[in-house]
Amino acid sequence: MTFKFFSLVLLSILNIQNVNSFEVRKNAVIRDDKFNAIIKEVTLTDLLNNKCYEGKYFKIVLGKSEKAISFDSPDSLQLKAATTYYHLNKARNYFDKVVLSNYVHSLPQITIRLDLSNVFNEVGHFANDNLDPQFNNALTVPAGVGYEPKKIEPWGIEIWFRQSKEIDIRSFPYSQRSDGSVKAALHDFRNQNHLNTLQNFINLILQGEVNGGYFDINGLMRLAGTSIILEAIYQSSNVAADFFSQKIYRLDSALVPEIIYHEFSHVALSEHLELSHSSPVNEGVADFFASQIANSKSLATKIKDYNLFSGKEVRKKQQYRIDFEQNNNANSDFVFGLLWNVGQLIGKERESKFIFDLSSKLSTNSSIKEDLLSAMIDTCNEDCKNPFSDKIVLYRFFDSKNF
Ligand SMILES: [Zn+2]
Repeated sequence: MTFKFFSLVLLSILNIQNVNSFEVRKNAVIRDDKFNAIIKEVTLTDLLNNKCYEGKYFKIVLGKSEKAISFDSPDSLQLKAATTYYHLNKARNYFDKVVLSNYVHSLPQITIRLDLSNVFNEVGHFANDNLDPQFNNALTVPAGVGYEPKKIEPWGIEIWFRQSKEIDIRSFPYSQRSDGSVKAALHDFRNQNHLNTLQNFINLILQGEVNGGYFDINGLMRLAGTSIILEAIYQSSNVAADFFSQKIYRLDSALVPEIIYHEFSHVALSEHLELSHSSPVNEGVADFFASQIANSKSLATKIKDYNLFSGKEVRKKQQYRIDFEQNNNANSDFVFGLLWNVGQLIGKERESKFIFDLSSKLSTNSSIKEDLLSAMIDTCNEDCKNPFSDKIVLYRFFDSKNF
């Protein structure tokens, strides 16, 4: 009798838990084994109801709305909502369960905005609708306290995905020198190692134009911190950028798993790497984790062959130069290559924890030579299998890159 009563109570507790968490099957963009983007049915977990894209950890909304996108919305919008929801939970799970981040474990629900073109304003949340509308990229914005006189409510950390907009790539200066596709132009630029020009190039493809020589560097590198990830996306995107081979550039960032991982990595690392602006260090670290979460052999092979730091397929390998310390975001390629190679030296079973612990000793403004290298040595003292001999390996490696 007592046991039966106990079971009944237990059963009702379990039922309450079930009622509070739903699962649904929805179409989303995922990668196949060859890193191609495909649309496939996936299970969305930890939903708070069976009517809309609101879960325990993420709420997916359209533009400036605070209401979650409904399961009755048009398919094209639901594909973006399901893709972001699915990959954000995967990224969160990685930081919670693999890296064991307490910060991520206790993060409140995060609002994710789709198809929002407003510029971020740290006082007003959204800048005026007509001010410099943004397309083809994504961005993670810091929390704000709101502004009572203008009835602006406080907000938490948010991730914004922009609408895609077609850009004819004949307007890119470099397109005449390659076969005219975005893919070829991007590849040539990476291989030539002309970082300033690469920066201009990426700026052009993201903004579609140059405003009298003004470059919004922060905006452009927030798309994907490093050009190798951007190139990998373009080499294998047929859903998110299905027109690129037809000489038109557009990017639906909400349909690209690696961009979603990159943006969530900014959130997960924001305890130390503040979200106020982009730098080679915070972009390079975010892409290191984007590549870890992707956990793709094809992507790892591309990174191995094409990273400018030590890639086999790169004609002119990068050595450290003092001008990398200027807060110039194209150098996130160099930082990413450095982190990726150090991860290889540290070993597969330790690299995620190593780079995560390393990131806790850094800030967005950390320098590469002084701060990043000394933080690596400190982290090795704590995390390396054999700190003494592993540090010698690291010093030799730094030396080979002209540090
Ligand atoms: Zn970024």
